[in-house]
Amino acid sequence: MTLSALKQIRDAVEQRPSTLVAEKNNGKIVVGWFGYFIPEEIVHALGMIPVRLGRGGDERLVELGARYISSQNCAFIRASMGMFAENSDPYIRAADVVAFDNACMQIYRLGEVSKYYFKKKTLFLGVPRNPQAESSQKYFRQEMEHFTQNLEKIAGKKIDTLDLAESILLYQTIRNCTKKLFQSLLIPDSPLHWKEVIEVVHAGYYLDKKNYLSLLQELLSEIDSGSVKSENKSPDVRVILSGSAIAPGDEKLVDLIEQMNGTIVRDDLWTGLNPSLNMNIEHPSVSSIADAYMNRIPHYTLPCIEKDNDIRFEHLMSTVLETKANGVIYHTIRYCDSATFKTTGLKNRLKNAGIPLLEIHTEYSGSDVEAIRTRVEAFFEILKAQNQTEVKV
Ligand code: SF4
Repeated sequence: MTLSALKQIRDAVEQRPSTLVAEKNNGKIVVGWFGYFIPEEIVHALGMIPVRLGRGGDERLVELGARYISSQNCAFIRASMGMFAENSDPYIRAADVVAFDNACMQIYRLGEVSKYYFKKKTLFLGVPRNPQAESSQKYFRQEMEHFTQNLEKIAGKKIDTLDLAESILLYQTIRNCTKKLFQSLLIPDSPLHWKEVIEVVHAGYYLDKKNYLSLLQELLSEIDSGSVKSENKSPDVRVILSGSAIAPGDEKLVDLIEQMNGTIVRDDLWTGLNPSLNMNIEHPSVSSIADAYMNRIPHYTLPCIEKDNDIRFEHLMSTVLETKANGVIYHTIRYCDSATFKTTGLKNRLKNAGIPLLEIHTEYSGSDVEAIRTRVEAFFEILKAQNQTEVKV
């Protein structure tokens, strides 16, 4: 039985392209974006509509995109390039301006190349390489100010502090609800699977944010009421999904995990829960927003140079402990070097803590489905055997 709020969210997403066109016809400006650091609060406070762009899982778009951008970019970037080339995605079509940050240089390249070929109005936000350094915080505040000034020119008005405070509160409430939604996956008879939770997160990329918040709140209260219970969840194989982006439409690995009765209890992805964590905007100001974005869990593409311990590893470890996961599935997309080359270090550190990690290195084509199935199956057998040993002890 499907939760009725989930059905409403699906209906709202289906209708969103047409409501977006209606809003544009009423003079609203749509700001599409790619990355991890684009401050939606500022876009929203200026009365524009932020929409997070990009899709995964479509090999045809990857091939189309590779006609414009080097095939040594990751599949997500090539597919996104394909979306610009094809121009049939309703959100790409609706975007009056597209903003890119350069946390991942491939995203920056996507911005440069799409601007060159498809003449979209484009904005860039510079992100420092070492988020922990004081000089980085200073640089990022300046970048954020500059980015805001560019948005103000497009909006034709200056940002108002009260509007900004209202947008910050709206986004913070959405983040808190998102955290609760992920938390609900830990309830033994939770009515949701991770795939549905991520579908709800992705719905937030597109929907009007006030409408999205009220749907999220409705979904949470329906979960709290306990009116719908889970079906077919395996308590013995609980995994965390980490690594490269899993964008809307990229369902191959998740479907395989669920088909084999694995339960994804949490993710550690920049397209999943991570953007909702560790955000604390202290004042309604652009510099406060910059500081808060800088202090989040670092994106996989940024080095953690000045810390003995990589914050991402610490975060993943504490997530494993909190969720009581049996293992980690680390998903890497071909040519996503920043995620791929962290695998060995991460695997060794998790191994020292007794937590198995399986790396799945893949693209969007279906040609490796059976190979992945075999590897996931073998990994699940290891996790089950480990569980049984723990029970005997
Ligand atoms: S998947 Fe990796 S390479 Fe691709 S955009 Fe994300 S961080 Fe960059």
